[in-house]
Amino acid sequence: MSNLRLGVMGGTFDPIHFGHLIAAEAVAKSYELDSVIFVPTGNSWQKNSLASAQHRLAMTQLAISYFPDFQVSSVDVERTGDTYTVDTLRDLKGQYPTAQFFFITGADSLAGIGTWKDSEELWNLAHFVGVTRPGHKLEVPKSPAGAVTLLEIPALAISSSEIRAKVVSGESLEGLVPIKVLEYMDKHNLYRGNND
Ligand code: NAP
Repeated sequence: MSNLRLGVMGGTFDPIHFGHLIAAEAVAKSYELDSVIFVPTGNSWQKNSLASAQHRLAMTQLAISYFPDFQVSSVDVERTGDTYTVDTLRDLKGQYPTAQFFFITGADSLAGIGTWKDSEELWNLAHFVGVTRPGHKLEVPKSPAGAVTLLEIPALAISSSEIRAKVVSGESLEGLVPIKVLEYMDKHNLYRGNND
């Protein structure tokens, strides 16, 4: 299908929460996207996540099941080695050769885009949208004119680290995480200090 406008929501999603889902909806609306593809990272190049890639992928699939315009891709989880956005976008371009891509992620992460693998190629593969929490400083990374946009998302007051801390202290996650994700976390005993 030609002229498809596809959001590519990249993140660790450890775990996915309503902030991510609302941010994706806001960007989809602003950029008139046909769909948003959530792409959980495989092995992040700078850190170890607390739940396995398979668990994070499964939680992402459950979370997006509420949203007909969202989909999930396992390209980063299936690729061996560290996750680099240039590989994510090359793989998706292989699947959707004529689509226009909008890569969406946290503005903190995007600030380092100039140091990402094959950064010069990235500018040709997608437009970049950095979403940020209220109160955080918005800084456009060094990039070609018009290549990056930043957007403040009030719902991103929620964070994955806050959710993990609440699991440890036994606090309620109501309103932070979709119920199916909550059930999955409970079933697999995630974030209680004994994850695989
Ligand atoms: P991360 O450690 O999970 O998150 C960093 C910050 O950004 C956190 O505050 C996080 O909030 C927020 N965030 C992450 N993804 C988000 C999203 N899609 N929407 C809204 N907020 C988001 O993320 P990361 O490991 O830096 O990775 C983010 C994306 O950038 C991934 O797709 C990754 O592959 C890519 N990346 C690529 C390279 C490279 O190619 N060299 C380097 C770094 C990152 P929460 O904790 O609440 O999610």
